[in-house]
Amino acid sequence: MGVDVPEEPLIRIEDLRREFVMGDQVVRAVDGITASVDAGEFLAVMGPSGSGKSTLLYLLGGLDRATSGEIWVDGREIVSLDENGLADYRRREIGFIFQSFFLIPTMTAAQNVAFPMVFAQVPVAEREPRALALLERVGLGDRVRHRPTELSGGQQQRVAIARALALDPKIILADEPTGNLDTKTGAEIMQLLAQVNLEEGRTIVAVTHDASVTDYATRSLHLLDGHLSDSVELDRHRYYQKAEL
Ligand code: ADP
Ligand code: MG
Repeated sequence: MGVDVPEEPLIRIEDLRREFVMGDQVVRAVDGITASVDAGEFLAVMGPSGSGKSTLLYLLGGLDRATSGEIWVDGREIVSLDENGLADYRRREIGFIFQSFFLIPTMTAAQNVAFPMVFAQVPVAEREPRALALLERVGLGDRVRHRPTELSGGQQQRVAIARALALDPKIILADEPTGNLDTKTGAEIMQLLAQVNLEEGRTIVAVTHDASVTDYATRSLHLLDGHLSDSVELDRHRYYQKAEL
């Protein structure tokens, strides 16, 4: 009703650039990207190896610094933040998932999931119950005392997803989340991410060259040589197909 004010996207990227200077060569990994992501999208970032996907994701997550440009997330510009501001941004807004899981090998699944809570002033008594509930959520309720080496790749990625959810982030950033998994396990992980997106309303940006991601995502962005080459709306048909079984 009333005046139709367009809603501000959750993420807005303005002419973003990241250059790496290698001797007398300049690599333009991200070379002038302008894009936005609405709250609730599951965005697949696709493109050949070396096209700038990971660099873009790390800039979005505040793990790397842009050479120029702006990234607005939830009303805050993050390229201009100092180290403390960036750390605070990562903790509050972002959950990360990586290709090689990055679990701490000496810790159990539950301890890995609780780990981010240690740095976020979550009261000690709340950490374990919250970690157990998250492991239950990702289907690992019966593996909470296992260490990473005692878990399959798919199970380790589930632990990593639970850990990414530990501080209740609005945004999940995933870099090749199925890159170390076989096709079937990869599809199960995509299904879980789609569920986290749809059921919990979290915004997901997943970088991948796994074409099957387009069966689960709501949109794909395509990169080529650090540029945006295409944006395609998707209908996540595999997710619904499976959900109806
Ligand atoms: P993708 O994830 O799509 O495979 P990347 O974002 O990892 O691509 O890399 C994009 C380009 O930037 C590549 O040419 C890569 O070699 C270069 N690059 C990425 N990170 C660095 C770095 N830390 N130092 C120098 N060059 C880098
Ligand atoms: Mg990459």
